[in-house]
Amino acid sequence: MELTILSQILDFPGYNVKEVIIDNVFTFTLEKNNFPICPKCGQLYFDATKDKRDFTVEDLSVFGKRCYLKFYKYRITCSCGFNGTENIHWLTPYAKHTNRYAHWIYAFCKRMTCLDVSKVFNISKFTVYNIDKTGIQKELDEQPEIKPSKLSIDEVSRKKGHNYATIVTAPNDKKILGVIKGRKSEDLDSFYEQKEKEWLNNIKIVTMDAWRAFKTSTNKYCKNAQIAYDHFHIAQYFGKAIDNLRIRETANADGTDKKLYKGSKWLLLKDSNKLKKKQKNHLDELLDLNENLAKAYILRDEFRQIFKAVTILERLVLFNRWKKMASSTDIPEIQDFLKKINAWSDHIINALKDNSSNGYAEGINSKIRVIQRMAYGYKDFEYLRLKIFQQFNFRELNSIFNE
Ligand SMILES: [Zn+2]
Repeated sequence: MELTILSQILDFPGYNVKEVIIDNVFTFTLEKNNFPICPKCGQLYFDATKDKRDFTVEDLSVFGKRCYLKFYKYRITCSCGFNGTENIHWLTPYAKHTNRYAHWIYAFCKRMTCLDVSKVFNISKFTVYNIDKTGIQKELDEQPEIKPSKLSIDEVSRKKGHNYATIVTAPNDKKILGVIKGRKSEDLDSFYEQKEKEWLNNIKIVTMDAWRAFKTSTNKYCKNAQIAYDHFHIAQYFGKAIDNLRIRETANADGTDKKLYKGSKWLLLKDSNKLKKKQKNHLDELLDLNENLAKAYILRDEFRQIFKAVTILERLVLFNRWKKMASSTDIPEIQDFLKKINAWSDHIINALKDNSSNGYAEGINSKIRVIQRMAYGYKDFEYLRLKIFQQFNFRELNSIFNE
């Protein structure tokens, strides 16, 4: 009688609980209440009892105790020609746990590190890692294909300064499309090669850093795409130019003025609205003292205004005005930056004509650093790749009770 209720609670149709051993853990011995079914032809396999093997797998814990299920798996040699092990619908072949257990663990992996999940459930890191990998792959296979008209391509370093990966995103759809090892032209080729011609022809604009390799590959595959160098990266180059100027001016400064230059790196690069009053005063003093830095600072502010303007026309007018302003200075670092701007002009104009925001693509780098910490301890690229898809594309967490 009690075992009937337990069988109902367990909820694996076709299986009855035959015995329960209560120890530090619960061990449920299960018995099949019918003959096994041939997975190929679907007929009952009456000879089953002759060839069976003992299995124990872990299931979800009950009342704070871990649960194990003991049961037989039958080998089938069917008249239809099938020869192998029966299928059990709540079990994946070779798994040491039930499907619902894996589903539960996977839900935790979406928000916790592998290591933390392994500690909470007291299971091996390797088990968690495998469940996570399998779960992500399953979600990945179920995704409908996105047909974007805009792509954004960026590189991330897996270790500081080396071991690069290329990230392809669809910023308007807010989805990661590709995580590719390396940052060479051939590396990006491998992404495009997997796409249909129609998919590639649908791409109208691709934003990227002025990194040559991405452009070469994109031009080769996306025949209708314009290349746009996004302002986020261009602003970084400008930041470097201003910093070079600061370093040179600091070296030339007189002894008494030198302390004013100290700690000025971030003052010059940060948005002036985000500075505290004391920092603002410090910056003002420095800009009063050094005319070159003051000019560079104004140019930087003007440069930001270009991308903030609402209409395409405004942006283009401001861009031309900025180039004129920059060329009238005789600061070598600014001149070097202006040379770059002129060389990239067409691609910058493409970016200015493109109205859509790159906010999604810009935030990716810092998010990926967090993901790298989540996947910490596993150096395989494939896991990092899957983890990036999970954290960007399928992070929404439905209740684990719903399935
Ligand atoms: Zn059969």
